[in-house]
Amino acid sequence: MSKTVVIIGAGASGMMAAHFAAQNGARVILLEKNKKVCRKVMITGKGRCNVTNNSSPDNLISKTPTNGRFLYSAVNSFTPADTMDFFESAGVALKTERGNRVFPSSDKASDIVDALLRTVKRDGCKILNEKQAKSLIIADNRVCGVYLTDGTEIKGDSVIVACGGASYPKTGSNGDGYMLAKQAGHTIKEIKPSLVPLECKGNTCARLQGLSLKNVNLSVHFKNGKKPVFSEQGEMLFTHFGISGPLVLSASSHMKKGEVSDYTITVDLKPALDIDTLDKRLVRDFDEFCNKDFANSLGKLLPSKLIPVIIERSKIAPTEKCNSITKQQRTALATLIKGFEVVPNRFRPIDEAIITSGGVNTKEINPKTMESKLIGGLYFAGEVIDVDAYTGGYNLQIAFSTGALAGQNSVLDDF
Ligand SMILES: Cc1cc2nc3c(=O)[nH]c(=O)nc-3n(C[C@H](O)[C@H](O)[C@H](O)COP(=O)(O)OP(=O)(O)OC[C@H]3O[C@@H](n4cnc5c(N)ncnc54)[C@H](O)[C@@H]3O)c2cc1C
Repeated sequence: MSKTVVIIGAGASGMMAAHFAAQNGARVILLEKNKKVCRKVMITGKGRCNVTNNSSPDNLISKTPTNGRFLYSAVNSFTPADTMDFFESAGVALKTERGNRVFPSSDKASDIVDALLRTVKRDGCKILNEKQAKSLIIADNRVCGVYLTDGTEIKGDSVIVACGGASYPKTGSNGDGYMLAKQAGHTIKEIKPSLVPLECKGNTCARLQGLSLKNVNLSVHFKNGKKPVFSEQGEMLFTHFGISGPLVLSASSHMKKGEVSDYTITVDLKPALDIDTLDKRLVRDFDEFCNKDFANSLGKLLPSKLIPVIIERSKIAPTEKCNSITKQQRTALATLIKGFEVVPNRFRPIDEAIITSGGVNTKEINPKTMESKLIGGLYFAGEVIDVDAYTGGYNLQIAFSTGALAGQNSVLDDF
């Protein structure tokens, strides 16, 4: 008789787990608290879904700062190339963009979700929508089913917890997975937001609200250490509370030690020009505007919103004539432009984080199978586990790889 595998959560990892369990002969029941499956996947990549990263398993591990090595078996048994094959075979044309980021050619996350849904339906998996798991049924150190919030009991030979993390709770992933894991005796590593905007001190960011900077270099230092913990070129945005945008989200995942206020952030507004070249450029601009006020001389170099802030910080009087600016003042100005400081205060709340850092302790999960080391027949997949990666399609790949491995093994498991 075929085994029954109950999967809690029809998101990225749960859907992939369902496919693999069904392909290995299981009767699969997918429980999803929402009316529709994969609500979070629908909003990934700003609705375009960066579905994986077209690179090696080793690269994925290196882009996963928290417990990357734990993923070795999972990402080698279902690789980024396998994810691409999976979706292409399911009829979704894909394209690879900058940084090996893979998207559906249509730029529609819904194509990814539709492909997952078609696949699990074709596999014969039973999806129970608007069914929320409340607790696990455990007897003799083995899981044998799930109780739903409506009181129903769903029996199963194995249960896969694929409830996601705690970020963007409106999508359904509101931390239930941690509650279920705790019930089974698992420890949960502290939950923190990752890939999240930053609130900053002072009113500079609010003054610059709406300003988007492209091709700037953002560096983060811990307690004024010499070597930056993060330094990359890209795009960022000023908001009423602080800073956001791709560079800032990536930077936030490198700021896990201590407090956010232990870090300093500097933005090189002109990374293509070294300080001498920038100085020469300033000389040229000041020559051109020699009889004009300093306040009117930076329009060719900087976005207009930034100019009053730079002028204030430069300590050069806005009415000073360009031809009277000294070399010393110019050097200070160039240094300021190449190291514009913003002072981070705290992360935005977890609701606004792309990913949850922390989760089910990886030491308590068998990395070769995704099975709990504490309770037989209990598996974990996706963001509920204490792993989190940078942006670039890595987090969905982690969900697919751990889902595939848990799905396969939930059927093979003998008891
Ligand atoms: C705005 C945003 C953009 C993102 N963009 C990208 C991107 O482009 N590329 C990338 O790689 N990653 C991206 N991510 C991260 C990615 O979405 C997640 O890493 C991934 O969805 C995690 O998959 P999962 O299966 O673990 O959880 P989820 O996809 O969150 O699925 C969990 C499911 O479980 C259900 N559930 C929860 N509790 C219960 C319960 N008690 N009973 C029944 N069902 C339950 C939820 O409703 C949900 O459907 C993004 C995240 C956000 C928030």
